[in-house]
Amino acid sequence: MTVALPALIDNFVDGRYAPPLTGNRAPNRNPATNSLAGELSMSGPEDVDAAVGAAHAALTGPWARWSVEERARVLERIADGIEARFSDLARLESIDTGKPIQTAQNVDIARAVSNFRFFAGAVRHTGSDAHPMQGALNYTLRQRLGVVALITPWNLPLYLLSWKVAPALAMGNTIVCKPSEMTPLTAHALGQIAVEAGLPPGVLNVIHGNGQDVGGPLCGHPLVKAISFTGGTVTGHKVASAAARSLKKSSLELGGKNPSLVFADCDIDRTVKGVLRASFANQGQVCLCGERLLVEEEIADEFVGRLAAGAKAIRVGDPLDPATEFGSQVSLAHRAKIEQYVQIARDEGGTVVAGGERPDLMSPWNAGAFYTPTIVTGLASSARAAREEIFGPVVTVHTFRRDDEAVVMANEVEYGLSASIWTSSLRRAHQMAEEIDAGTIWVNTWLKRDLRVPFGGMKASGVGREGGRYSLEFFSEPKNVCIDLT
Ligand code: NAD
Repeated sequence: MTVALPALIDNFVDGRYAPPLTGNRAPNRNPATNSLAGELSMSGPEDVDAAVGAAHAALTGPWARWSVEERARVLERIADGIEARFSDLARLESIDTGKPIQTAQNVDIARAVSNFRFFAGAVRHTGSDAHPMQGALNYTLRQRLGVVALITPWNLPLYLLSWKVAPALAMGNTIVCKPSEMTPLTAHALGQIAVEAGLPPGVLNVIHGNGQDVGGPLCGHPLVKAISFTGGTVTGHKVASAAARSLKKSSLELGGKNPSLVFADCDIDRTVKGVLRASFANQGQVCLCGERLLVEEEIADEFVGRLAAGAKAIRVGDPLDPATEFGSQVSLAHRAKIEQYVQIARDEGGTVVAGGERPDLMSPWNAGAFYTPTIVTGLASSARAAREEIFGPVVTVHTFRRDDEAVVMANEVEYGLSASIWTSSLRRAHQMAEEIDAGTIWVNTWLKRDLRVPFGGMKASGVGREGGRYSLEFFSEPKNVCIDLT
């Protein structure tokens, strides 16, 4: 079973691939070489209508009668289908995003497999509530919502899409996926995998195109019951408004500007390694990346010196080379945004102590969207580059003297997605974990994920939680049944 790079990236509607009803296409690019990687469907409201219609019809088809066990089994078969094409899918993800093939394999595709397997298990083990009362018994049914819209970003394409598809299907919904127009390839492949796994037509649909012509109409569609969205905060506002207008349930996983807090009593070797990963994993394009490094003054010089040396040693280059550690940014436009932020940091008085430039690469990668891992010191923690999400490999460094000062700095941005705390003091770790406003706190680690735990952000980082039972609850409607026993 192989998955080749498709020439035409068609929509997947009602169990079949089909060109967009709009007839419009746009080039899909490999950002590492700026070469063509297929022609993308640029769909419109008519395509959304067709997909939502197919998903709605499928609600009364055979899928409606599938037991929990049958749904769990189909999720396992989808996981098998992804595993059977593991190398091809990792290659497509690398070509589409510019990420190193080792990241695509070890993180993206590996996690897509575990998302399907995890939710197959989770739904099998899901129970429900009963509330006995004097003279009556209440029990709660958890029923599917109906047609749900799943909208995802470009940084972890199949990883984040599968994180929504698996629980939505587990609870018996039918779905319309709207992957990022920047990275459509693995979502495109998912259609065929779903067919081979035996998912009935119309249960899973994928519509490609941009936010305005596809995302907007999908959010506003009257037959869509809920929206699960992962993306930027600005788009999150639009999705929330559309959901509010039609009283849809929504889950919003948005941007971040996450602090890494490094205390003088940390294990410095382990912390340098951990903070390097938190800063530059996936070219700094993980919503959970630590873009702000808050370091205790007494170790700041040593720590930043070692971090800068580590950043300079990261192997940047051809994403398809298994030895590459750091690939290209997702697009030339995104790199331009990163470069603009580094310029802003310089204008604000910052000093670039590592990176801050395009790497010197040979053809064809010299046409790609590469940018070196970058560390900036000397900025106020209120500077623009230190408080706005860059979503690239740029870390700003700020020092503190006291724990309470560190907490104030950690909380002074509008976001609240995650934080990592590096210390050998258990007391301090607990204290910080309690006081920092973020949905996820890591202590002496970063991006260690258990799929059962609540995942989501506070403040401008989102509304709602995904993961384990939180996802299963989001994708279902509780219905209380009260039986009179008198
Ligand atoms: P984005 O908001 O530009 O796009 C996300 C998705 O929304 C895309 O599929 C896009 O086409 C679609 N979209 C755009 N406008 C829309 C509209 N009006 N209505 C409906 N859909 C619309 O985000 P991006 O640039 O693709 O991704 C980067 C952002 O995602 C960063 O801010 C990052 O922090 C965030 N992110 C958050 C998480 C999380 O779990 N919190 C995870 C990954 C990425």
